Amino acid sequence: MSGEFEFIERLTKLLAGPPAGQVWIGDDAAVLDGGQLLATDALVEGVHFDRAFCDLADVGWKALAVNASDIAAMGGTPLAAVAALVTPPGTGLADAVAGGLAQAAEALSCPLVGGDTTGGPALMISVAILGTSPTSGPVLRSGARPGDSIYLTGTLGMAGAALADLRAGRDPAPEALLRLNRPTPRLTEGRAAAAAAATAMIDVSDGLVADLRHICDASGVGATIIDGAVPVTGGTFGESPSVGGDDYELCFTAADPRAVETSFDDAGLTAPARIGLITARADLTLRLADGRDRRLCETGWEHQIG
Ligand code: ADP
Ligand code: MG
Repeated sequence: MSGEFEFIERLTKLLAGPPAGQVWIGDDAAVLDGGQLLATDALVEGVHFDRAFCDLADVGWKALAVNASDIAAMGGTPLAAVAALVTPPGTGLADAVAGGLAQAAEALSCPLVGGDTTGGPALMISVAILGTSPTSGPVLRSGARPGDSIYLTGTLGMAGAALADLRAGRDPAPEALLRLNRPTPRLTEGRAAAAAAATAMIDVSDGLVADLRHICDASGVGATIIDGAVPVTGGTFGESPSVGGDDYELCFTAADPRAVETSFDDAGLTAPARIGLITARADLTLRLADGRDRRLCETGWEHQIG
């Protein structure tokens, strides 16, 4: 058994690297010739969703939405998607999933232009998505520089709270349930960040610490998160730094706070929270209310594979 990220490292060594001007493995989406964006993400029953806690239209919606979230994390705009659907035979599940896929395609202005349908032992849906880069160029994970401010759109923890409630047999708050089952990719926010010359960006799918760490590793920098500045439902960030998995908010860095404010305001968006600073020292720390720094060792969600 090995972790997902170790495998990706081994795989990257086996493969040819990209030509100049392109970005392949290592970012939220690959950047191809002319700035075209390409990404894929799969949802597997029992791993990414539980049929007791969502309806199948939710699964279709989420499959497209999480892919669009990776386009949002580049500052991009979805162009089109394809979906491969695997369902156990004779279950009638495919049509239910298709309803949610169609809703998301319409809501996100991302037409579903093809795919594949096959029988299989478990329900799985894999979407691949094409997108376009913003005119200023895609926002990579690798551009954060010491002194940049760190921003977060929205609030963390709702999807996790909904899942915890469902697992404990409690009814989640309706808004939290929507965050879990019908996430909204932050496409407008991603473009606003790009317009504000964001230096790096990622979508928070695995947890804020893990995802910010991807930005830090790719950029060769560290970060200090200010506890109390991170919008978290039901507590402070420092109490549970692993929150934020499945929230699909955007975390980005930028050198000019005024530009971020103006850009979000111009787009009619709530200003993102300024949650910390990029540092030269390559580690992640949490600045507590009393001024002490605590080292953040938490890892986020990582799949174990064969
Ligand atoms: P995200 O959470 O943004 O979807 P991941 O953490 O899943 O990104 O993947 C990290 C990087 O590794 C991405 O650039 C992705 O394209 C790449 N990657 C993951 N799995 C594979 C694979 N099986 N083959 C090629 N590239 C992969
Ligand atoms: Mg991502």
